[in-house]
Amino acid sequence: MVEAYSIPVTKIEHSRLPGITLENIPFGRTFTDHMLEADYENGEWKNVEIKPYQPLMVSPSLAAIHYGQSIFEGIKAYKNEAGEAYIFRPYDNYKRFNLSAARMEMPDVPEDIFIEGMRQLIALDKDWIPAQENHSLYIRPFMFSSDEMIGVRASEKYKFMIILSPTGPYYSAPMRIYVEEKYTRAAPGGVGFAKAAGNYAAAMYVTAQAKKQGYDQVLWTDVYEHKYVQEIGTMNVFFVIGDTAVTPELSAGTILAGVTRDSVMTILEEMGLRVEEKPVSVDMLMDAYKAGELREVFGTGTAATVSLIRELKYKDFVMSFDTGTWKVTPEIKSRLDAIREGRAADKYGWMFKV
Ligand SMILES: *Cc1c(COP(=O)(O)O)cnc(C)c1O
Repeated sequence: MVEAYSIPVTKIEHSRLPGITLENIPFGRTFTDHMLEADYENGEWKNVEIKPYQPLMVSPSLAAIHYGQSIFEGIKAYKNEAGEAYIFRPYDNYKRFNLSAARMEMPDVPEDIFIEGMRQLIALDKDWIPAQENHSLYIRPFMFSSDEMIGVRASEKYKFMIILSPTGPYYSAPMRIYVEEKYTRAAPGGVGFAKAAGNYAAAMYVTAQAKKQGYDQVLWTDVYEHKYVQEIGTMNVFFVIGDTAVTPELSAGTILAGVTRDSVMTILEEMGLRVEEKPVSVDMLMDAYKAGELREVFGTGTAATVSLIRELKYKDFVMSFDTGTWKVTPEIKSRLDAIREGRAADKYGWMFKV
């Protein structure tokens, strides 16, 4: 078979893998032998190549550093028992990447570079995908403006890259969440729906304040009334109320449309729960809590899959949960993990073979 699009490869001389233990490897600190790099210049993508992972040389006037035209994605690849590698729903991330790019006045990245480049890069570094349960290869595609000029305008040059990081189980203890009613993350008309670097920079201070008070993360609320909830840190949020799972709807463009969110909605329906996307007010949550109907609260995202929430604090009102008795959240995680690790049938066509 002729490869659709073959990217030039410079291989590393000696793999660093023999010196590394993949079992329980911490998230985001170790990178594989190779990376993908491409440049956008004069209206076209060029210099697409796969080469040894290495530092970048950049000018101090690099536009991305000053004005923050920078976006990214987070995706995971898994190895099944037969040793075959699969990427989880990469086309969904690809579409979202180009939506983020459009909002930040950056060029589209073609499928040949994003998807096929990712596939070829992972095929080359396949031995870096840990095979143990709850382990995976985290894939980080990103793009930033690369004009070397100080002046506020959309850059003419961009760099697109993909780096890979093996990761072990992302254990996070059930979280205490502070419902934020002073600072905000995203307003209608803003960039909340985009995976834009600046969104994360703007959240650091607020998260640090919450941590000082003993919370793990904040639950963002709407900018007008601080009444409707949006998402938790870098995770979408779900509330199980009676036999219904409720998650905030996306139409205002203030919430990042998670691929995990979408997958979890499918799994919840498969489990026989009703799923509702709608505006979710803190008042409604407190009423459900007081009535004993608010059963489970969890966050969803690629890094952790699902994270249990054991406490929600809004003004002086504390909603606390005994996560040890929960049924729905652990079941979602186990069903999703089974599909991703190749232990259950891929009935929704989510797994893309490397
Ligand atoms: C990435 C991200 C999510 C989760 O998206 P997934 O596609 O499920 O990983 C949710 N919220 C924010 C702000 C994010 O950046």
